[in-house]
Amino acid sequence: MMQQKKRVVVIGAGMAGILAGIKLQEAGFSDIAIYEKADRIGGTWRENTYPGLTCDVPSHHYTYTFERNPDWSRHLPPGAEVQAYFERTVTKYGLEKLLHFNKQATRAEFLEGRWHLEFEGGQTDAADILIAATGVLHKPKYPTLKGLDSFQGDCFHSARWDHSVTLENKRIGVIGNGSTGVQIVSALAGKAAIVEHYVRTPQWIMPVENGHFSVEERAAFRDPEVLRAAMKIEEYNTAVERYTMAIVDMKSEGAREMAAYCLANLEQNVKDPVLRERLRPDHTPLCYRLIFSPDYYDAIQHPNAALITEDIDCIEHDGIRTRDGELHELDIIVLATGFHADTFMRPMVFRGRNDANLDSLWSDGPKSYLAITLPGFPNFFMLNGPNGPVGNFSLIDIAEHQWDYIAQLIDKLADDECDEISPYLDSLLQFETERAAAAKETVWYKGGCTSWYLDKNGVPASWPWNYSRFVKEMAEPDWSAFECVKRQGNTSSNT
Ligand code: NAP
Repeated sequence: MMQQKKRVVVIGAGMAGILAGIKLQEAGFSDIAIYEKADRIGGTWRENTYPGLTCDVPSHHYTYTFERNPDWSRHLPPGAEVQAYFERTVTKYGLEKLLHFNKQATRAEFLEGRWHLEFEGGQTDAADILIAATGVLHKPKYPTLKGLDSFQGDCFHSARWDHSVTLENKRIGVIGNGSTGVQIVSALAGKAAIVEHYVRTPQWIMPVENGHFSVEERAAFRDPEVLRAAMKIEEYNTAVERYTMAIVDMKSEGAREMAAYCLANLEQNVKDPVLRERLRPDHTPLCYRLIFSPDYYDAIQHPNAALITEDIDCIEHDGIRTRDGELHELDIIVLATGFHADTFMRPMVFRGRNDANLDSLWSDGPKSYLAITLPGFPNFFMLNGPNGPVGNFSLIDIAEHQWDYIAQLIDKLADDECDEISPYLDSLLQFETERAAAAKETVWYKGGCTSWYLDKNGVPASWPWNYSRFVKEMAEPDWSAFECVKRQGNTSSNT
C-alpha cells in the first residue's frame, strides 16, 4: 500500500465520517483528523435515544459491507445496538487516534490550495482534502406552538430525550406522526398511564415483522457464508430497486403493491371504523417517507392510548388545548416534530476558491453535483450531501457507493494528477435542472402531501431516480464534468 502524504480532515463522526476514516486509512492516508461537534461518535444514533428507537432497515443490511454484524438481536436493529455497532467498529479499525471531540467547525476556507479550518473555542487546522460527513437528520425542529414555554411539566424533543424523567404512571402527549412519533407511541402505550398521540397528518403504515434472532441463529451467523445466505442480498437489492421505482413511477407494480399492503394493514388491523377513518391518510403511500411499524395500530388501540386529530390551539401550564376548546392535562410533552434536514454542514462560514461563498451558492436551497461535490470548492467532498438518495433503505450503503466515487477523485489528487479538483458550475446546473425536473415526476411531488423532502420551492430535495441509476453513477465519475487544476504549470484541463 502506498503511503499518502496529503492531510485529510473529516467533519463529523457519524456513520459516514467513520466510513471515511476507515477507507482513508485503508488507502494509505495516515495524516487524518476527524472532528466531531459532540463528545462521542454515532451521529443520529447518538442523538436519538427515545423509547422504541429502531432502524427500519433489516438489521443485517444496516452495516458496512466490510463489517457485517452477526449479533443483532432482532430483525430490525434497536437504536442502542446500532450505536454499539459503530462504537465497536471505531475500536476495531483503530480510529480513536483520529477523533477530536467537542469540536464544532465554524469556518472553512480554501486559500492557496488548502482548506483552512476554525473550530469553536479558537482551534485551527489545515488540510489538503476536506470531507463533510455532517449528516442530515440531527438538528431538531421545534414547533411554533403558542405557549410552549408555559408548560409546567416536562417537555423535550424526541432527539433530546430526558432520561431522568420517569414515564410510569405519567400522562404523556406525543406531538408528531413521522417514524419517530409512531415508534415512541408504540413503545409507551401500555407503559404510561395515558399516551395521547397528536396527529396533524395521518400516515400510511407498512406492516413489518420484527422478531428476535435466537441464540442458535446468532451463533450460526458467525459463519460469514451462513450470514450471507440469510441476508438474501440479491432479493434485498431487488426490493430496494422496486421501492425506488415506486417513488419514481406512481403507477409501477411496486407502488401498487406497497399501497395495497398499507391499505390492508389499516383495514384489517384497526377494528373501530371511526378510529380507522381518523387514521386514514389522504395522500398516496410513499409521498411521505413510508413508516414501517409492527405494532403502531395495536398501540393506538390500547385502552390507555388516544389518537388526537383535533388541531393544537396552544400549550398551557397543565397541558395541550386543542381547537375544540378541550384541555388535555399532561405530565410530559414529547416533540417528535422532526429535523431541519437542509442545513448539512451549516451553520459555518464556508468559502471556496476566489471567495466562492456557500451561502450564495445555496441561496435558493442546498444543491450539489451528484450530492457530493460543489463548483468553486475544490478538494471538498460530501457524504450524504444535498439531494442524494434518502428513503427506506440503508444510508450506509448509499455512503459506501459515494465513497467509491470520492475515492476516485481523491486518487487524482494523491497521484498529483490534479492539485485542485471540483465540478464545473455547468455540471452542477445541468445536473440540478435534470434532477429537479425528474423530482417533479415523483410521488413526493405528485402524491398529495407536504413532507420534509420538499425544499422551500416545493421541489423534492432528493434523488429522483431509481437505485440502479445511483449505483451506476457512482461507479465512475464522468470526468468531463470536472475541472482539474495543476498549479505549477498553471494549466487547467478536464481530467
Ligand atoms: P418527521 O418525519 O419530519 O415528522 C414530524 C412530525 O411532526 C410530522 O408528523 C409533522 O406533521 C409533525 N409536526 C411538526 N410540527 C407540528 C405542529 N406544530 N403540530 C403538530 N404536528 C407537527 O420527523 P421524524 O418522525 O423525527 O422523522 C425524521 C426522519 O427520520 C423521517 O424521514 C423518518 O422517517 C426518519 N426516521 C427513520 C427511522 C428509521 O427507522 N430509519 C426512525 C425514526 C425516524 P405534518 O406531517 O402535518 O407536518
